[in-house]
This record gives sequence, structure tokens and C-alpha cells, in this order.
Amino acid sequence: MPQRRCIKKVVQSHQKTGATKIPIYGSNSSNPPMTTYKLAAIFRNPTNNDEFLLVKQNPPPKYNDQEYDSFVDSDLWDLPSAKLSSLSPEADSSSQAVLKGEDACSHKLNLRNFDLHSALAEVLGQVGFGSVSDVEWEFLKFVEEPNFGPGFTIDTVYVTGDLVPNVGTLKDHCQWSCKETCFSLLLQVKPDGDRVGPLVVNGPLKDSMQSETLKLPPTLHCQEYPPGVNIIPMGSRTAKPYHTTNLIVFAPGNNHIKYESKFVAQGDAMIVDPGCRSEFNKELAEIVSALPRKLIVFVTHHHRDHVDGLSTVQKSNPEACLLVHENTMGRIKKDDWSSGYTTVSGTEEICIGGERLRIIFAPGHTDGHLALLHVSTNSLIVGDHCVGQGSALLDINSGGNMSDYFQSTYKFMDLSPNALISLHGRINLWPKHMLCGYLKNRRNREDTILKAIEASSRTLFDIVAYTYADVDRNLWIHAGSNVRLHVDHLHHQNKLPKDFSVTKFQSTCTAHFFSKWIWAYFKSYINFHFRAAMFLGAVAASGVAMLYYIQNNHNSE
Ligand SMILES: [Zn+2]
Ligand SMILES: [Zn+2]
Repeated sequence: MPQRRCIKKVVQSHQKTGATKIPIYGSNSSNPPMTTYKLAAIFRNPTNNDEFLLVKQNPPPKYNDQEYDSFVDSDLWDLPSAKLSSLSPEADSSSQAVLKGEDACSHKLNLRNFDLHSALAEVLGQVGFGSVSDVEWEFLKFVEEPNFGPGFTIDTVYVTGDLVPNVGTLKDHCQWSCKETCFSLLLQVKPDGDRVGPLVVNGPLKDSMQSETLKLPPTLHCQEYPPGVNIIPMGSRTAKPYHTTNLIVFAPGNNHIKYESKFVAQGDAMIVDPGCRSEFNKELAEIVSALPRKLIVFVTHHHRDHVDGLSTVQKSNPEACLLVHENTMGRIKKDDWSSGYTTVSGTEEICIGGERLRIIFAPGHTDGHLALLHVSTNSLIVGDHCVGQGSALLDINSGGNMSDYFQSTYKFMDLSPNALISLHGRINLWPKHMLCGYLKNRRNREDTILKAIEASSRTLFDIVAYTYADVDRNLWIHAGSNVRLHVDHLHHQNKLPKDFSVTKFQSTCTAHFFSKWIWAYFKSYINFHFRAAMFLGAVAASGVAMLYYIQNNHNSE
């Protein structure tokens, strides 16, 4: 779709809601994102201007299952924040809160169209201080979130608020902090130590961070969280509901590090998973050309949405060195990468501009799948092991394996990462909770599969039909792969009933499954169309009856 049309469409949709954000979209999305807004407040300490207030963030709801609830993420602190809603057309705008310097935001967003008063009252309530009018508010900046998709992007309006001393009592879940303390918590992570969230990083800390030195094409948006980890969603040939793959860029700007042999590779910059579609090769080439020449290219696995941009990277920097697992290298085409590469097993470390990254073998999604731990921030790049929302598929044709998947998940939990960076969707700030969710969902699915087997289902088709009865038959092919992986896993754990023959089951996984699936698919298709035809017939018949009635009434008048 031409970009100009996209912009027009979004301007119209914002005008409908009263918001007048002027969109600047990257060519990194074929669909412009819809946007919601948030207000984040930097409350300065009246007795020490270097300090600002942080609020302990609520963790996601527990699972009510001891097995999962025993894994607890450490406390996460961030700026107080609230949803910023549009003002209703009837609202009296003269009673709105006054924000000093708000005109500075007007080229992006007209704040007069938003209910600032409610959002400011909410953030004040979170910290336990007085009323909105007791505080001097000032607009600080407007930060647009990159389009991680699917769904809304969340843009943030940052304001500062000078609290009046001795008004209100600071709530228990609040504390004063400063930039130095936050940087130390983010960059010198201690086991189970307090964590600091992205609003602080994008707000008070942003000006002191390296992303200022990262040169990006103006059409792309980058999010740096935690400091040193740059995440750039770029349009890719990925599976729905996603439409982008996150390109991760490390460029610490320290090019004078001595080589140490304990590292498997050392460079001045690194990119992870250049998987954008060919339309975005120009942007990818610009990013690579702006990075130092001593570049490491790390690939988590071989899927197209993670390697499509490799040839562009190679053209832009023929000296770049590729780091991959050997099972992945075997699946990367010569057309994609023909220059230097190093295969790794997943126990090595890399040094990029003085920053350590630990490679972690994490099979499950494929048999060559790798994860990467940014040591100083303890943030974990998980490849396709997890995605921003929904569940990740395992690739049965590339060594995908459920036992490996469970083991890799526990390996990730043992690392107690501060943040999970998946390559599709947003970063996850509750890593253990998210990983437990994956374990729980997979176990629930496996229990249903075992029930199907115990209820005498013996063929792949019968188990899929039992387990995925409520799911669109279109998706049963994927479901079939999933069931095969779970049956393998059940077999591995000796959980299958004695009279279940794995060999016989496997003999039903190809032609038998497809013939049954095609028949089931057509039956549901015909059923649907028959019902649709019946409905249309009924509508047509009532139309004729109505006409007859009108005609008769008309004639009798
Ligand atoms: Zn993948
Ligand atoms: Zn992917």
C-alpha cells in the first residue's frame, strides 16, 4: 500500500478520536499502527533535585499453581504512569490541567485534546501526594514506541512535576532514586536485585545513553532497553499475527578493546537476526554501513524471517563475520552468506566493544536454535523460543523437539533474566512469569493429548480432532506437527499407555492424516456453505413473501 495513503487513513482515524498526532511511520510496516497514549511523570524531590520517584510495578496475576508461582521475578521499579485518554467532545477544556511548555509537543500531538487532569490525578494518587493544582507540571518530551505489532503502539508523554513539600505521605511502594542508582541497577545486575523499567530508561536516562550515537534511517524507530540493547522492528516474512522481526543492534562505541582469546569472537558492533524483507534492504544497508567495520552477525536460527537480510549485510560489509550453530549453518543458503563464519555450540562468549555476551544453546524451536545473554544487563535474547504474545511453534522439519524445548525453558529460568527479548513483539519484563506460562500451556495441551490417547485415539488425525475440536480446521496441519512433538515427549517421559504403539501412530502421520484432514476440511466447508445457502434461501423466501404481502395489501386498498 502506498505510504501516503496509509498516513491519510491514520490521520483520519485520529481525527475521529479527537487526537491529532501527526504520524511519522517507518517503511517498516505495511500497516500503520494504531496508537494509544500514556502519561509518565518524573516527580522531583523537593529537597534534592537529582532524585525522582519510582513506583513498584504490579506483577502479572499468579497462576494459582505452586509449581509455577514459586518462580518469582524480582521487584520492578518504574516511573508512575497512567493511560492518557482523549477528551470527550462535551468536556469543558477550560478546566483542564495546565502543562507548561506543552506547545513543544504540538507538532506530534495536540495535548489539549486529551484528559490530562485525570491522568495527572492518577499518577499523583499512585505516589500519595496532594491534588493536581498543588503541583507545577511541565511537558518534558514525547516518545513514540516502535511498531512491534500486532495491536496498538503505546506512545508516552513525559511530564515533570515539582511536589510541594509536606503535602501528602509517600506511599510504601514508592522510593526516591537517581540516575546513578538506576544505571547501576540496569548495568551491574545482581542476583534477585531490584530492576528498573523502560519508562525510566526512555525518560530520565535517555540522554546519557548510547542510542544517541546509533545512526538510523529516519523511517525506522528503535527502542533501547535495557541500555546497550537496541531493538528495531523491521518488516519481515514472518508468521501471523506478527509482521516484523526485531533486529537487535549492539554498538557500544568502544573500539579500543584488546583481543582476548577466551572469546569466540570479538567485534566493535554486532547485529542479531537481520531478517527483514527485501523492500527494507536499503534501510538495513544504511544501518550496517553506519556501524563499525569489525562487525559480528549473530543468527539465532535459520528461518527466513531471521536470515532474509544476510546477503544485504554481506554486501554492505564483506568483512563481517557470521556466528551460528552448525545445524543452522547447514541450512543457510550460499546465496545468503558466502563469506567468513564461525560455528558455535552454545557455550561460548563474545565480546563487543568491551561488553560480554554469552551464547546459550537453546534447542526446541529448531535443533540449532541459540539464545544470547547480554551479561551486564542480564537480558536474554530468546530468538523464537518465545514471542511477544501467543505461543511459539516448533519446527518439526528442522529438529524441533518438545523435550529440548522444556529443557531450554528451564535453562532460561535458571538464568533469572531481567528482561526477555523475543524477536517478534515487545520485550517482556516478567521473564519467569512468561516462561512459566509457556510451560503451563504446553503441559495443559499435553494432558489433553494424553486424554485423547487414553480415550482410544490412536491415529494422528483422531488425536488432533479430539484436542483441537474447537480450532479452525485450517490450522490442523500445524496442530498435527504439535501433536507429534507432544507424543514424542510423552513417549520420552514413559507416560503413554502400554497398548499405544508409537510405530503405528507414526505410520498415520503423513498420507493417512492428510487424506482424513482434506475430507474433514471439505465437510466443514460444505456444511458452512450449505448453512450459508440455507440462510440466503430463507432471506430470499422471506423477501418474496414480504413483496407478495405488500402487493396484496396495496391491491386491496
Ligand atoms: Zn523461527
Ligand atoms: Zn521468527
